[in-house]
Amino acid sequence: MIPEGNIEILIDEKTIASRVDEVADQINRHYGTSEVLLVCILKGAFIFAADLIRRITSPCTIDFMIVSSYGDEIETSGEIRIVKDLQKSIFRKKILIVEDIVDTGLTLDHLIKYLDSRGPDEIRICTLLNKKDARRVEVPVDFCAFEVGNDFVIGYGLDYSQYFRNLPYVGKMVSSGDSSDQTA
Ligand code: 5GP
Repeated sequence: MIPEGNIEILIDEKTIASRVDEVADQINRHYGTSEVLLVCILKGAFIFAADLIRRITSPCTIDFMIVSSYGDEIETSGEIRIVKDLQKSIFRKKILIVEDIVDTGLTLDHLIKYLDSRGPDEIRICTLLNKKDARRVEVPVDFCAFEVGNDFVIGYGLDYSQYFRNLPYVGKMVSSGDSSDQTA
């Protein structure tokens, strides 16, 4: 069933686009002429990765992973299950993990350990959103577009019950009484 409610815009389309430019500049400066493999974590990061890769000038390739975390519906255990793995070896490669959001950090912590065991040269993290205050384990976020609070956010790839990934902005669900001018 489609979740009901109004949506308050937190980060609009234009702001996302100009920030993605800035993050891509940082990434380009970091890698220069070195080759990088972007690892896009599906499904949430697919729009961010698509926008980001078009601004990357360093030689790059992309692969995709689907990772799901074990745990009940409310809390992730941090144990991850690899639903779709990378297609090629990452031995001695520079890896840039592209995530939608880092929350507790548990998923990424496990993912980094999993990928690190395959002998890459370097693993860096790029995330669209960072919920710093929700962290339960420290993860090294190298590139981050936006810091956000602890609200559950949707849009620009992020879902609520698989819906709302298509929204061009990042927003949050609000009850009808809370909605502001920017409600879509
Ligand atoms: P972590 O292991 O860092 O707690 O969880 C990260 C994953 O939880 C993200 O990749 C994302 O799929 C999901 N997640 C965490 N916070 C949010 C949120 O506010 N909105 C949405 N749509 N997903 C979230």
